[in-house]
Amino acid sequence: MRFESIPTTCIYCGCGCSVVLQILDGKLTGVLPGKTNPVNDGSLCIKGWTSHEFVYSEQRLKRPLVRKNGAFVETSWEEALGVVAQSLKKIKEESGPDSIAALASAKCTNEENYLMQKFMRAAIGTNTIDHCARL
Ligand code: SF4
Repeated sequence: MRFESIPTTCIYCGCGCSVVLQILDGKLTGVLPGKTNPVNDGSLCIKGWTSHEFVYSEQRLKRPLVRKNGAFVETSWEEALGVVAQSLKKIKEESGPDSIAALASAKCTNEENYLMQKFMRAAIGTNTIDHCARL
């Protein structure tokens, strides 16, 4: 039996609480609050305490889906991203860049959220970008 504790940051919101992942034989089994980080001072909210539960969920999407003949089917990342790129290009050409909006996620890292706003502003050409923490 091999047990590991891996310190990291909670994925759920911008507070950035310190958490310690509990790993047993290579499998994530729980989350404990970091005790020395002044952000959460040894506490977590209920989302933080349960933040590991989605990892092995049967409902978790592990491959991209595209709609074909009205139904979602699994596909490769290359095809899915190609569909997205073609669709965004078509919408932008037909209706202008402000007809496209993006909603970023608190479950992404700051760096990923930065890339999302950069993509929307530099590649799409719009400022219609927001974040779920404001909803
Ligand atoms: S534990 Fe709660 S408050 Fe702290 S980062 Fe996670 S979701 Fe946010």
